[in-house]
Amino acid sequence: MLQIPAVEFHQVKKQYGELEALKEISFSVEEGSFFGLLGPNGAGKSTLINAMSGLIVPSSGRIKIKGFDVIDDYRHTRRILGLVPQELISDPFFSIRELLQLQSGYFGLKGAKQSAWIGELLERLALSDKSDANTSQLSGGMKRRVLIAMALVHKPQVLVLDEPTAGVDVDLRRTLWEFTKELHQQGHTVILTTHYLEEAEALCEKIAIMQDGEVKALDSTHALLSKHTYRYLRVTLSQAAYQLIPALEQRLVEREHNGLVFKLEKTASMTELLAWLHENQLQVTDISSRDASLEEVFLDLTSGETT
Ligand code: ADP
Ligand code: MG
Repeated sequence: MLQIPAVEFHQVKKQYGELEALKEISFSVEEGSFFGLLGPNGAGKSTLINAMSGLIVPSSGRIKIKGFDVIDDYRHTRRILGLVPQELISDPFFSIRELLQLQSGYFGLKGAKQSAWIGELLERLALSDKSDANTSQLSGGMKRRVLIAMALVHKPQVLVLDEPTAGVDVDLRRTLWEFTKELHQQGHTVILTTHYLEEAEALCEKIAIMQDGEVKALDSTHALLSKHTYRYLRVTLSQAAYQLIPALEQRLVEREHNGLVFKLEKTASMTELLAWLHENQLQVTDISSRDASLEEVFLDLTSGETT
């Protein structure tokens, strides 16, 4: 039997006046996958995520969560999704624990089992000793944790996190990644937008790169990296080389002490470089080559350069 995708976007458009925030987005997120949504500020990531969560209504197109339409079956899809929004909240009236209980109530969840789950969430997100604090007294990082706890209160099948680590310290970031990884291993689908491309590279199985309301690339992380046509060659010399020939200068992307890093087409010949080293009697002490990182692929895709 064909598996129903966790999320399906069908020709989703969103217009704000003249601005096309989403141009016509169509793709699916497989159930159980760890999916990354990347793109520069203003690309449309939050708009897409908010449309998926029913917070905004697309101008046209449809979104389905586990086969259910986000608008026609709002209550049902809302139950499947857990959203950690980008914007921080604070509520002057309620403590953290009260907010989590209220959120549980919204989903009709109560009793000892639910209280135990709330306790576990508070524990895992290092909020236990603050659970009676008013949310308006919390730091940005703490508020972020509260939002994550609120999204997880009903154990959603699909967890959607919009820049959960923006402005969060290294410790909390690590805790969050461990926690989301664990949820993914338990079978939850995780959809994440992030500015930390190294982490997207480490965590996400599939990645969509958005820009100006369009999906520029969508593939498995491995394929995105291996399809990239460049590699990076680091040459370390026994002394600093200041004057490069123009053909090499054009390909130089980094220079530090005696090290030079060149960005080369994977198919390019290294004859020029070797000839130059030889002619200038430069002693090479080390040479290494590596494939592009996700950050470099991302920059190439979003800076308008063709790859
Ligand atoms: P991202 O999350 O990728 O940074 P957003 O989805 O927040 O991008 O925004 C996409 C574009 O839509 C931006 O140009 C933003 O200014 C615009 N936009 C978002 N929300 C609104 C709104 N409520 N009214 C008008 N324009 C909006
Ligand atoms: Mg955003």
